[in-house]
Amino acid sequence: MKILVINTGSSSIKYQLIDMEGKEVLSKGLLERIGLPNPVLNHKLNDGKIHVIQAHIKDHEEGMKLILDTLLDEKLGAIKSLSDIDAVGHRVVHAGEKYASSVRITSDVINALEECSELAPLHNPPNLMGISAAQKLLPDVPHVAVFDTAFHQAMPPKAYLYAIPMSFYDKYGIRRYGFHGTSHRYVARRAGEMLGKNWRVLKIVTCHLGNGASMAAIDKGKSVDTSMGFTPLEGLYMGTRCGNIDPAIVIFLEEKENLTPQQVYDLLNKKSGMLGASGVSSDMRDIEDHSANGDKRARTSLEMYAYQIKRYIGSYVAAMNGIDVLVFTAGIGENSPLIRKMVCENMDYLGIEIDESKNEVRGKERIISSDNSKVEVMVIPTNEELVIAEDTEKIVKEGIEELPIV
Ligand code: ADP
Repeated sequence: MKILVINTGSSSIKYQLIDMEGKEVLSKGLLERIGLPNPVLNHKLNDGKIHVIQAHIKDHEEGMKLILDTLLDEKLGAIKSLSDIDAVGHRVVHAGEKYASSVRITSDVINALEECSELAPLHNPPNLMGISAAQKLLPDVPHVAVFDTAFHQAMPPKAYLYAIPMSFYDKYGIRRYGFHGTSHRYVARRAGEMLGKNWRVLKIVTCHLGNGASMAAIDKGKSVDTSMGFTPLEGLYMGTRCGNIDPAIVIFLEEKENLTPQQVYDLLNKKSGMLGASGVSSDMRDIEDHSANGDKRARTSLEMYAYQIKRYIGSYVAAMNGIDVLVFTAGIGENSPLIRKMVCENMDYLGIEIDESKNEVRGKERIISSDNSKVEVMVIPTNEELVIAEDTEKIVKEGIEELPIV
């Protein structure tokens, strides 16, 4: 079965065509600047070379058409006819409390996702545009939605409720939802496979450290807590997002700097995090370089970054009454031996110890804990597209509407 995986942003479409037989990526690419001047499609060929296509693309439907035409192209493509695509799996950010697993897309699902758009105004509307465009161009195949929030729906109320008047939960659905669920689920399950153990008996802490970053406590295959909250702004500090701060700072800044709520929101989303703390960049590589060259603020921001992860590990160990596995994934988690080392330093009380030579790994699966470590510390590159394709395949093959939560 060949599955097209689609991840649509406000001006972009990321895609992968996966052959499920060998779990082989036949083709992938990224179309950017939809509706803006100079849209560009970077399409990756089988030999790894990138083919750049420039075209006038006014909306997501035209973008999707360009992608399908490219996949059909004799030289660049991977299929002969659109009927070679058996199903489409869509990444959708927010399903609110409606779906706790992946679903076949029907008009009821679309309506439910439109209702959730208020909770994810930057993400759900473009996701829905992607679904609509793909359904128009591929009307005869099943379409499946895989949600970032779904995996975290297993959290108990004590983990997802905020201590504000409950009327706001009832009225607006204000609670912790959590994001990156597909990635946390993938790396936790993969950790079990790598260790030859069923992940549903393990206590796992997963650290997804990319531009966006979050952690999850996964007890016996269920997410019991996660660091992102009502929006992806809470929790760890990230490339440009502030993560946890005292909420009173918002009001203080509004008053002192004469800023509107939207201006403070932008400041906390786009100018804070690593960029704000280091004063250097939102990119971890730049901060590591500056720190190595003696920049004190960059060094402190690295320490802040590692320290907050440490604190979350501690709280998740307490939440689960133990930990068997600690997983690092996403850009920083997969590629930064320095951050992994700083996080795992002085954690022997919890039985966490890494082997410095094993830790010298980038972008590859590896167990990096020392022989003495009670906790398996692992680097596992994430693969959200594969999970989306697998969920889509299961729903289509089993002829079901929604994946069971197991
Ligand atoms: P996104 O959330 O946009 O998918 P990624 O998962 O690609 O982000 O992660 C991007 C982050 O990974 C950036 O901060 C980048 O600096 C960091 N990163 C990538 N490669 C390295 C590396 N070799 N060393 C340290 N950090 C890295």
